[in-house]
Amino acid sequence: MVRINLVLLLASTALANETPSANDAAQLVGGALTDGRAFATTRSLTDGVGARMAGTPGADRAVEWALAEMKRAGFANVRREPVKVARWIRGDASVELIAPRATPLHAVALGPSVATPANGITAEVVEVASFEEVRALGDKAKGKIVLFNRAMERSSGFSEYGRVVPLRGGGAVEAAKVGAVAALVRSVGTGAYRLPHTGAMRYDPAVARIPFAAVAAEDADLIHRLLAAGPVKLRVRLGCRTDGEAQSANVVGEVVGRERPDEIVLLGAHLDSWDLGDGALDDGAGVGVVIEAARLLRESPTPPRRTVRVVLFMNEERGLDGAKAYAADHASELANHVAALEVDSGAGRPLGFVVAGAAPSIALVQSLAAPLAPLRAAAVSATPEAGADLIPLQAKGVPVVGLSQELAAYFDWHHTAADTLDKIDPLDLALDAAAVAVLARGLADSPERLPPSPPPPH
Ligand code: ZN
Ligand code: ZN
Repeated sequence: MVRINLVLLLASTALANETPSANDAAQLVGGALTDGRAFATTRSLTDGVGARMAGTPGADRAVEWALAEMKRAGFANVRREPVKVARWIRGDASVELIAPRATPLHAVALGPSVATPANGITAEVVEVASFEEVRALGDKAKGKIVLFNRAMERSSGFSEYGRVVPLRGGGAVEAAKVGAVAALVRSVGTGAYRLPHTGAMRYDPAVARIPFAAVAAEDADLIHRLLAAGPVKLRVRLGCRTDGEAQSANVVGEVVGRERPDEIVLLGAHLDSWDLGDGALDDGAGVGVVIEAARLLRESPTPPRRTVRVVLFMNEERGLDGAKAYAADHASELANHVAALEVDSGAGRPLGFVVAGAAPSIALVQSLAAPLAPLRAAAVSATPEAGADLIPLQAKGVPVVGLSQELAAYFDWHHTAADTLDKIDPLDLALDAAAVAVLARGLADSPERLPPSPPPPH
């Protein structure tokens, strides 16, 4: 079935547009769809290495894996570039309902939460849906456990995630400001499988650090219903702790440009993952896609004019350490970064690209992505930010682009124990690699360069 579609696709592409770039695109798409290597690469990382939270032995193994995989792909200048990461150890977590009845709930600590005392924190719960509501509590939150309970709706883009995720990021700070002794957040996700979703949170040096965990959506709903009838008491026990710094690395490899080797098109994904699942969707898929896209370019009969550099960033999840280190260490050559593209939205099929920029940027990416129209992957739109790891580059004016993908059930599994390889359709991933290869080729070969991206909003 794939092969039949491929033949039709190649025929229609060639007939529609007999230009060298269209033929080149057909070759890249053909390679991506027939070899299945994007999936094989992601499988090797997620089944072979598994969870790889920054600062853990899994992340060390992932760095070694990436070096070997890039060498096997025939990339040039394969290397590790040092990144310091804060080490955080999850330990055990339990959240139990104590009253009006006793039952365990499904919860996980958020990173880098502090621990509770060994026998836990037992207190009544107050529920809020926003920072405005928690600020309005005043004394009513003193000595209590604050539950931030706002459901995330299914949607086709990241905007809904952006609406809900600030409660996870800043909930502990806002709850501590009104005297809470611990905080919980309804899992930021769309699934209904009683799965808690972990993720990053932060403290404010000026505010007391209180323990912070996520509970499954079903448990947040249960607490909500019980609160309607009277007081609800919980016991929260978290065994997590921070443990100094670890030396880790970004992993970099290149397909050297044939005419302008010092001008760079960066293809990025993050090598680290959370620790609950195998990090297949987040971001093993992106790793497989960018390695495969660059490998297709390396194998094409004519190498790209500019250098295509694959960067696998360390610790996107808990602070963008690798992204910040890359932007700092490569500051002197950022003016030569003609574009940076990140793949970090799961494994859904490609829809096109998002670009941080105005009409001229959109128009150039549209023209370079045009050969992807038969795959229905040529839609281009503006975005304030193209990917978390690209924020430090965007802040310095590097033109940034993101692969736009169908999200499907991405946020059902995101940051949960269920982020495993079985959620990935190999054909969708092959299409993603094809789309990235075609745009990377266009960006690397185009006589025209993208204008600098405007600074990120945050
Ligand atoms: Zn990610
Ligand atoms: Zn993530």
